[in-house]
Amino acid sequence: MSTLQEQIESWDGECVVVRHDAPTGSWIFIAVHDRSLGMAMGGCRMRVYPDVVDGLRDAQRLAGGMTLKWAGIEFPLGGGKAVLAIPRPLEGAEREGLLLRFGDLVEGLGGMYGTGVDLGTTPADMEIVGRRTSRVAGRPAEAGGAGDPGPWTALGVYEGMRSAAACVLGSNDLRGRTVLVQGVGGVGRPLVDLLSGAGARVLVSDADERRARAVAGDAGAEVIAAASAYDTECDIFAPCAVGGVLNEQTIPRLRCRIIAGSANNQLEGDVDAERLSLRGILYIPDFIINAGGAVAHGILEFLHGPENEVESRVRRVGATVADLLAEAGDGDPLPVAVARAKRFIAASAAG
Ligand code: NAD
Repeated sequence: MSTLQEQIESWDGECVVVRHDAPTGSWIFIAVHDRSLGMAMGGCRMRVYPDVVDGLRDAQRLAGGMTLKWAGIEFPLGGGKAVLAIPRPLEGAEREGLLLRFGDLVEGLGGMYGTGVDLGTTPADMEIVGRRTSRVAGRPAEAGGAGDPGPWTALGVYEGMRSAAACVLGSNDLRGRTVLVQGVGGVGRPLVDLLSGAGARVLVSDADERRARAVAGDAGAEVIAAASAYDTECDIFAPCAVGGVLNEQTIPRLRCRIIAGSANNQLEGDVDAERLSLRGILYIPDFIINAGGAVAHGILEFLHGPENEVESRVRRVGATVADLLAEAGDGDPLPVAVARAKRFIAASAAG
């Protein structure tokens, strides 16, 4: 295992801000990866790590991912991420204290980094952070924030799906196409509604079967047992639950032509993109297709752009996917997406 020093030395990002929070025994890491396009922006993860250095590594890895995400959709923000590496689950005054001190730290960076919700943090947490800094997204609407990003993420996924369908199935019209949505929470549920509205045959699967049944009932969709999700025939498989679902075990079982969903880090490893390609399944890179919520929050909470721009900008995820697929041709879109993002950053830095 590397030390904190080695972990910082070996990183290709701009800087990390490290603070030990003595009252809670937590470590705060803010990783600023690349600000060529604008302020570094990415959510704040709170969790217990096996070792403090794992928290730093996570912040760095996620910050690099945000750089690609923003550049991949040509959005004027840079890559950053924060991790609150807590020694044990924190609640009440302890949690509030840590979040307030984190807010002070973000504010003290004077616009270098802006934060938001990630695993382990909630809109209510961001309301607390927002008492100390304006550089925070994802507060509840009643606290002046942009509210739940899920429906915007779903809209971007839907548009990206239509572009993928145009490429593989010959039309972006999803009427009569079968789409399996895995995970019907904040993103999956509004996605199911959009797909039903477009006349698709929608299959839903969720680890929480009651939730699956409720969402399916409302939308006229069919429920598939969570264990059967990978074996069920469909045109499009939409992973909207957890990461790592595309791997050596699941890929041989898939019976779909396109993968287009919101989950972060859908591929367990880089080699899984190749596995999908060999099976003739088109994988739309997650960091491109799941950017709708980030775009909406970026416009509303950091760029202070007009609300009526949000929908058209989120729908543009579809055009981005179409451009990407055109450039990739018969090849794997993932390396092409990464190269396009890096090219966009280089061009912006030069211009
Ligand atoms: P959520 O927690 O609201 O919903 C996730 C759903 O998946 C839940 O209903 C849960 O029961 C189900 N689930 C969990 N494990 C499962 C499994 N193994 N099999 C089947 N179902 C399972 O989360 P969300 O906000 O809808 O986000 C879904 C995914 O999209 C996550 O990976 C998230 O990181 C990613 N994402 C979300 C947003 C957003 O705007 N919320 C933006 C970008 C990416």
